[in-house]
Amino acid sequence: MKRQTDRNVTGFFQKLLELEDPWQVVAVELRDEDRSVEIEVEWPASYKAPCPECGRACAVYDHAATRWWRHLDTMNRTTRLGCRVPRSDCPTHGVKTMQVPWAGPNSRFTEEFELQVIEVLLLARSQSQAAQHLELNWHQVHAVQAAAVRRGLERRDTEDIARVGLDEKSFGRGHHYGTVLSDLDHRRVLEVVEHRTQASAQQALHALPEEQLAKIKVVALDMWPAFMGPPR
Ligand SMILES: [Zn+2]
Repeated sequence: MKRQTDRNVTGFFQKLLELEDPWQVVAVELRDEDRSVEIEVEWPASYKAPCPECGRACAVYDHAATRWWRHLDTMNRTTRLGCRVPRSDCPTHGVKTMQVPWAGPNSRFTEEFELQVIEVLLLARSQSQAAQHLELNWHQVHAVQAAAVRRGLERRDTEDIARVGLDEKSFGRGHHYGTVLSDLDHRRVLEVVEHRTQASAQQALHALPEEQLAKIKVVALDMWPAFMGPPR
């Protein structure tokens, strides 16, 4: 199927995406070569663009080059959102690329896709098949993870964390391992570090501020035995 600009098609995808006004889906392409779906999103030219620094509605200076974000699959087909994001011309802050509502500033994934990665990370016993299924490698999973941890940290400064889990997970193909520190009471990932060694466990724990670390009552381990002590 070629690129579709029919309003019946684009409007349908716009509903599915639940995009905020005035973002619009302007085209959808079902690509046979890699069985993917590409959704083109646009900020209509008649609308002013908010400056990402101060939020002021500014004239659109121009549009950045097309960027793509991986989104949740559509009927098992890898799905990407594409957009030429407007650059706002702010009298105070100059020309800045507008913030999009579906993704963080530097991510190549939409926030919804990132949430899915985190869910998989929390639920999967072996991460290999999951990562393979999502077609992500360790570095991508880690980038998503790091962003989620950062967002989490911003929100939980003063919270107490009573019970944490340290789990080993394998990522991608082969035997690439990581250590995941999670909050057992709130089912969220706190940190992910590469490898499954004592050093990586220490590193994961020390991602938490000292005050929080001092309040932890339980650390549940689900690790490779050699992890508990030096390898023989
Ligand atoms: Zn501004």
